[in-house]
Amino acid sequence: MKILYVEDSAAAALVMRRRLSSFGHAVVLAKNGQEAVQMFRIEAPDLVLMDIEMPVMNGFEAASLIRAVEATQSWAWTPIIFLTASDTEENLITAIEAGGDDFIAKTVTEPVLQAKMKAMTRIATLRRGLTIANQKLEALASSDGLTGLCNRRSMDNRVDASFADAVQLQQPFGLLMIDIDNFKKYNDHYGHQQGDDCLRSVALAIASTVKTDNARTGNDAAFAARYGGEEFAVVLPMASAERTASLAHALVSAISALGIAHEKNADWGCVTISVGGAHLPQASGKIAELFRAADACLYQAKDKGRNRAELSI
Ligand code: GH3
Ligand code: MG
Ligand code: MG
Ligand code: MG
Repeated sequence: MKILYVEDSAAAALVMRRRLSSFGHAVVLAKNGQEAVQMFRIEAPDLVLMDIEMPVMNGFEAASLIRAVEATQSWAWTPIIFLTASDTEENLITAIEAGGDDFIAKTVTEPVLQAKMKAMTRIATLRRGLTIANQKLEALASSDGLTGLCNRRSMDNRVDASFADAVQLQQPFGLLMIDIDNFKKYNDHYGHQQGDDCLRSVALAIASTVKTDNARTGNDAAFAARYGGEEFAVVLPMASAERTASLAHALVSAISALGIAHEKNADWGCVTISVGGAHLPQASGKIAELFRAADACLYQAKDKGRNRAELSI
């Protein structure tokens, strides 16, 4: 495992580092508490092994700061073991209070140190497994099962965060609402199963059109989500009005170009979408207002005959 070892005495550091390395661990060294907190952020170690008395910042203060860093990362709890000359009862209590997990005397014998490190390695392995499992769960929970797009829950989170950023930085913000035309008739005519296939194809085409546009404009913040049912949304943080409008039209073209037969979509004969778009040159107010404006444009697009984009820009 990777150990962040914090020790102000160069001589002591040399000895302990050699011992830890001989057990097969990778050791990164910090000379005081302040350095330890910085290195903790960069190195993301499996274990922190820390002296208590050090200049600049002592081990207890550093442990509290490390726990504060971890509080910003939901998955983290890195074991912190204090290493000291004086293994008094009082020191042990302070160590635990400061966020430490255990306490080893510097005079610890080789076999005891090795055994403790072995136990810590088991915890590190478990923790890594949990982190991976959490990431997988997070990915599952944030994507839509049918289309693989970002789902509503995750879109809401992302949109809130990116809109707050745009408001703070006084940046533009675009939003497109997309609805498949006469999709109830598609289901009725071709069956629900084929309806699902169609939804998947439309979602894929939306995602790939957004991806191409991200690459074209060099701003990859735009993303597509399944808003619900046969409705999708494309969120365009920091995008110009021109880009928002051109993407809206590109999406309409991309879906009709798929040429998915839809006999009951009267005027077109193939699957089409309607798009409503709204844009703020400088983000302000509430994101809900932008959704309302985009929705109103979507109704206009439907009213005007479908297979088109309407924008309030
Ligand atoms: P409009 O052009 O006005 O949007 O007409 P529409 O028929 O598309 O609109 P409506 O809201 O009446 O119907 C939406 C349909 O979308 C109804 C519903 O069965 C279908 N739908 C929603 N979610 C799914 C899904 O996950 N799979 C399938 N196959 N159909 C779905
Ligand atoms: Mg010291
Ligand atoms: Mg609808
Ligand atoms: Mg529809």
